[in-house]
Amino acid sequence: MHQFQCGHQECGSQYTAANKDDLMSQVAQHLKDAHNVDKATQTLMGYLESTCVTVQP
Ligand SMILES: [Zn+2]
Repeated sequence: MHQFQCGHQECGSQYTAANKDDLMSQVAQHLKDAHNVDKATQTLMGYLESTCVTVQP
């Protein structure tokens, strides 16, 4: 189980998914809906993946 915790101040949204690809597509959608990021770059996604994603047993 992969978990994403949004690092944006005053947001704090959490998502979980069985695999990382599913999670990151939810994250991309969240960035679009909540943070007006129309096109998340690989750099941004990589950054979020390393800072906001944890792997649960
Ligand atoms: Zn957020």
